[in-house]
Amino acid sequence: MLACDTHTSWEQFLCFVRERCSATAFENWFSPIRVVESTEHEITLEIPNIFVKEYLLSNFGEDLKAFLPVRENGEVAITFTIAAQKPKKHQPVVEVKETAPPPSTEDSRLIRLNPNYRFSTFIEGSSNQFVKSAAMGVASRPGQSYNPLFIHGGVGLGKTHILHSIGQFVQENHKRLKVQCITTEAFINELVDSLRNKSVEKMKRFYRSDVDILLVDDIQFLQNRLNFEEEFCNTFETLIHQNKQIVITSDKPPAQLKLSERMIARMEWGLVAHMGMPDLETRVAILQHKAELKGLNIPSNVAFFIAEHIQNNVRQLEGAINRLSAHCRLLDMNITEELVEESLREMLQRAPKDKITIEQILKSVAAVFQVPVMALRGNARTKDVALPRQVAMYLAKEMINESLLMLGVHFGKTHSTILHACKTVKEKMEKDEILRRQIHIIRRNVGTAA
Ligand code: ADP
Ligand code: MG
Repeated sequence: MLACDTHTSWEQFLCFVRERCSATAFENWFSPIRVVESTEHEITLEIPNIFVKEYLLSNFGEDLKAFLPVRENGEVAITFTIAAQKPKKHQPVVEVKETAPPPSTEDSRLIRLNPNYRFSTFIEGSSNQFVKSAAMGVASRPGQSYNPLFIHGGVGLGKTHILHSIGQFVQENHKRLKVQCITTEAFINELVDSLRNKSVEKMKRFYRSDVDILLVDDIQFLQNRLNFEEEFCNTFETLIHQNKQIVITSDKPPAQLKLSERMIARMEWGLVAHMGMPDLETRVAILQHKAELKGLNIPSNVAFFIAEHIQNNVRQLEGAINRLSAHCRLLDMNITEELVEESLREMLQRAPKDKITIEQILKSVAAVFQVPVMALRGNARTKDVALPRQVAMYLAKEMINESLLMLGVHFGKTHSTILHACKTVKEKMEKDEILRRQIHIIRRNVGTAA
């Protein structure tokens, strides 16, 4: 029984978070949380008020899933209990009010650059090469190449990593330049605070004259925040006109953000660069790099196994390594595919999806075997179509809850043809490793297809 497993994972999560938020935010939101109980599958956290839960889930929901077990309904397995009302010494500084931004101090303004986020620790592949070289260009000659540099891409693909790398590089190589790295959320919080303390002018002065390079993370949070958008836009224009470098990250390209035309146009002034999901080889390299940092040695078949299963999010790859290393330490075992499967079961599980259709199966089979979907539907008996067609039937029987008769109707075949196909494929799979892998990939693709 791994009674302390989720407790360890929680502590690892706290280390992860500590590097990503300001000291004040950490003190406000995370320090008051207590672990009340931890089992292998679940953790119970005591929180001072309901806002802490909301803050945690809305800001770190996906990260939490990388560290902690996930329930069947897709939620992270945390039970929250609210601490008894009597004020404790460690009550967070936040008061119970609707939005509770961390107090404005010099400290909360500054997001510490994560020392691990450097160009040298960013693994390059075809999906992120362009972004990396643009970022290096900007870091070497701030304000002189592309301005702004706008980086967009999905969650957990390394945008913040690249943003901090720029900051780090500039701090080390252009010592006189002042770097300011801020999340859009922190910018808004600060503005709210300045409005309350009537210090907006001071804040404006700071951003417009005391900053040489402004790194803005997650601009999508500016959507639907009209007043802030205008303020941000003004700051933006002032800096650009002074040739101060701006780098922005976002989960969408500028034109898809719900922002004013003016703001979108500004963001498209410079270079817009897309960060994609690393391909399999790059994911393997990232995994091995992260494992090495943790002193973990993962055999390459295991690295491939994990990288094949986790395809959409590099942060989840890291989460897998964290869990695996906790598991290995506790069990004192070598890493094998079985151990990986055991310890990452929830992570590797597919989210419950809509019903799978024959169409999805045919498409995935066609893609893996490189044959047209039409051919799979037809009657040609050539070998390069016959086997893929049988595989489609085999998977349809396995993945679709319908009678053989109905499946036969879909394929335009009798139910005995379907049965025969299933039997043939099963037999072939026993002897043919490549076929097994192909079928494994198709199964997975069908499950993850949108
Ligand atoms: P995003 O900001 O796009 O959501 P992050 O920059 O926070 O993603 O990246 C998530 C995690 O994945 C980070 O720990 C980061 O170091 C890691 N990561 C992402 N891409 C790479 C890469 N190409 N090489 C090394 N680590 C990466
Ligand atoms: Mg980010």
